[in-house]
Amino acid sequence: MGRWLIISNRLPITIVKRENQLQFHASAGGLATGLGSFYKSYKSLWIGWPGITLEKIKGKRGEIEERILAENCYPIFLSQYDIENYYYGFCNKTLWPLFHYFTQYTTYSKNLREAYRRVNELFCKTVVKIANPDDIIWVHDYHLMLLPRLIRERLPEATIGFFLHIPFPSLEVFRLLPGRKEILNGLLGADLIGFHTYDYVLHFLASIRHLLGYEHSFGQIMAKGRTIKVDAFPMGIDYERFANAVDHKEVQREIKKIRKKVGESKIILSVCRLDYTKGVPERLEAFDLFLEMNPEYREKVSFVLVAVPSRTRVNQYMLLKRQVDELIGRINGKHGTIGWTPIWYIYGSLPFHRLVALYNIADVALVTPLRDGMNLIAKEFIASKRDGRGVLVLSEMTGAAKELGEAIMVNPNNREQVAEALKEALEMPEEDQIERNRIMQIRLQRYDVIRWANEFVDKLLDTKKAQRELGQRRLTQEMRNSLIDHYLKSKRRLILLDYDGTLIPFVVRPERARPDERLLELLRSLSYEPKNEVVIISGRDKATLENWFGGLNMGLVAEHGVWIKERGGKWEMIEPLKNDWKGEIRPILEIYVDRTPGAFIEEKEFSLVWHYRMADPELGEVRARELKDALLQLTVNLNLGVLEGNKVIEIKNIGINKGRAALRWIKKEKWGFILAIGDDWTDDDVFAVLPELAYSIKVGLGPSRARFNLDSIMDIRLLLEELGGRHASFRGL
Ligand code: UDP
Repeated sequence: MGRWLIISNRLPITIVKRENQLQFHASAGGLATGLGSFYKSYKSLWIGWPGITLEKIKGKRGEIEERILAENCYPIFLSQYDIENYYYGFCNKTLWPLFHYFTQYTTYSKNLREAYRRVNELFCKTVVKIANPDDIIWVHDYHLMLLPRLIRERLPEATIGFFLHIPFPSLEVFRLLPGRKEILNGLLGADLIGFHTYDYVLHFLASIRHLLGYEHSFGQIMAKGRTIKVDAFPMGIDYERFANAVDHKEVQREIKKIRKKVGESKIILSVCRLDYTKGVPERLEAFDLFLEMNPEYREKVSFVLVAVPSRTRVNQYMLLKRQVDELIGRINGKHGTIGWTPIWYIYGSLPFHRLVALYNIADVALVTPLRDGMNLIAKEFIASKRDGRGVLVLSEMTGAAKELGEAIMVNPNNREQVAEALKEALEMPEEDQIERNRIMQIRLQRYDVIRWANEFVDKLLDTKKAQRELGQRRLTQEMRNSLIDHYLKSKRRLILLDYDGTLIPFVVRPERARPDERLLELLRSLSYEPKNEVVIISGRDKATLENWFGGLNMGLVAEHGVWIKERGGKWEMIEPLKNDWKGEIRPILEIYVDRTPGAFIEEKEFSLVWHYRMADPELGEVRARELKDALLQLTVNLNLGVLEGNKVIEIKNIGINKGRAALRWIKKEKWGFILAIGDDWTDDDVFAVLPELAYSIKVGLGPSRARFNLDSIMDIRLLLEELGGRHASFRGL
């Protein structure tokens, strides 16, 4: 295995320039602290921006590169313009607010989008320069959502994972973004796409389906000839580091210092970047209300608020800072006494030992973001409580809420509820606190950040392996040559072809599925060749097939095998079938048409089909499941089968399938060459009845009973064209 290339906007090292001197610090923030603690122990290289603009490092680039490379990092230098438009711009004025459901704060601008594109390109150039073929490329977060596709275009075989550290919003919010398809396509360049929670996975899959039209099964998407896996990996923390920190001397010293200052007061702690998503004003107001409702707690409780400065150049953040300053002043003025300040406000970043000392000494952690992809503070607080005492009050709107169910859960917009939760937390019996924390601790210890990263990478390698296995069934040039050779040498050849999805794209509007002139010519040239017998085996009704192909020298099978027409013959039924069941079944299908806008019924001579390809995909699927259940109950005694196809439920007589129809031709004579091509499970019935040496090809990369796969309809048509001995170009498809 090669190296791990970790790629994120920021490096774990930040450079600051003070009095013309460059200083190197550890970066703050969830990603840097989460991955930062262990990436050095792996064979890895971290690629990103070191936090200082090109303009400020004139003449010192070489020195910086050297220092940073010694830390297993590789710098990408960005200009002041890039930082304004890409980082402060598209990342933090467009994507950040939108993905956190702050649509009113979202700026939409073409300029910012272009800057984002350009910086993603810049990252791509560096990655392509550095990456070896066996490296694992792991791209992080919303700053680099175009990067997976850009890398894939240049390194088609690369192993690429992507993890989003913020929420993926619901479709109704995501669709507001201009350039939304570009972002989705950008992500689909990865082999594995990870999110913190399953909700975000579902939101992403819904967007992929509605905006790009790609279906998925169990989180697996088939797009552009590749399988892509989407899954949830809740990010963990470096558990032991927090659990063991209490033993450090400087942490103990810090704990004593704080205790001396607050005396016997209980401590409520809040730590977060000063960001509007974190709900700081709402939190302060809830504390204000708590003091109003519970005057007995005055002088007995201190609220320590650590707010880390963040994106201070963005307008909303400046306004927020002013609002928070004013609120703290007002609350302290309203409730404070000479010896007691209700809110202690630290506006700045704390070193690890001070942060852990606060986690340790706090009686309650109040973590109430309005929206947060995960929230590591909540996890770090629990991990730091070695004696098990302390209570977490946690917002439902955080990803962490999915794992920390034993915390007191609150809706951060409900001030009264948060105020009551504070009281409940302060008065919770100690054994109760310990019991809850122990359960959460076991969970956090088991699924720590190392396990998180390893699981992600293992899943990425699994996905790659599965892709390779499917790829091995792809009809190689060598097999293709031997198929053509076999064809040319054979005196009698049978060619069995499905129609929709095999010779022509599967389209939403059936009237557009009519064969084009080039296809008809191709079929003509194959079917008039005296050594050949060509059969179209379709689910369509016989009138349509007759209309389209009746004039050609071919066999036809309609309605998945109910009707058969031999070359030059007449339509005949494969066996006499009854039709009296339709009167009972049709009214049920009609109910499901009424309940599912866009669904419709197709009546074939011996079957009824409920189509939902024009309905809302999610609703369609739910209704299809309900309908299938309802029909299965009804059809037990009717000798009917209920079959699920591509966006259809079909009801027809049992025992009729394409395979049975295909056998009519297979058994007819001793063929020297047999080729069957299809795209969905109905064609599997044909593949299943073929003799061992026959060639069977599935269109697309999904699993099937076919011996081979080919990527697209165009590949199929090119192959058939070669068999037909013609070389006209089909690239116009
Ligand atoms: N943090 C820090 N110094 C501070 C405050 C916070 O290093 O003064 C770290 C904290 O340990 C945590 C991260 O910042 O790992 C915050 O992560 P979280 O997921 O809560 O929020 P984000 O900032 O990523 O939105």
